[in-house]
Amino acid sequence: YQKTLEDFRIEEQQSLSTKQLNQLRELTWLEQAYNLILLGPPGVGKTHLAIGLGIEAIYRGYKVMFLAMGALVRALNTQDITRKSQTIVKRLLNSDLVIIDDIMYMAMDQQEANLFFHFINQLYDRTSIVFTSNKGPEEWGELIGDPGITTAILDRIIHRVEVIHLNGDSYRMKNRSTIFGSISVHE
Ligand code: ADP
Ligand code: MG
Repeated sequence: YQKTLEDFRIEEQQSLSTKQLNQLRELTWLEQAYNLILLGPPGVGKTHLAIGLGIEAIYRGYKVMFLAMGALVRALNTQDITRKSQTIVKRLLNSDLVIIDDIMYMAMDQQEANLFFHFINQLYDRTSIVFTSNKGPEEWGELIGDPGITTAILDRIIHRVEVIHLNGDSYRMKNRSTIFGSISVHE
């Protein structure tokens, strides 16, 4: 969906300061090929922030791709079979910024873990990757499976990384509308 940094209400997100948001918006991390990991429970604005930063990067002339982890794994799995997947992978490898939404929500088999490693390795050091996840990198190994591949993937991702923890109540819950009229939730 289309979400901008202007729509992101920093006062709703206590674990991120205005100063930090402005630093992210400056995109120095992107210039320096840093990765970002946006962590937190569902509904705290991880995807919103990732998309907002992606749109900002597009405004500044960067090539940006956004896709969900499931779509990435599917594209990697079928790149030799379908032209469409091959095109997606090519475009990803050609991007300045790749946003992978909801990484590690599902377990990978050995083949997928290998393909994912190969993909990360190709982007390594030249493309920034923004990951959103509700699990910290220390838990990613469980889903990647193979400990050797996990270490290799993590080494490359966290070589230059900024980890941003977004906490707090789910924005979806706080600002929900109900058929009974508005409910205000107090902390
Ligand atoms: P997550 O990816 O962490 O599960 P989302 O980014 O999808 O959460 O946010 C859920 C909904 O709440 C989206 O519609 C998003 O635009 C909105 N939202 C979350 N945090 C904020 C915020 N700080 N300011 C404005 N909208 C927000
Ligand atoms: Mg999300």
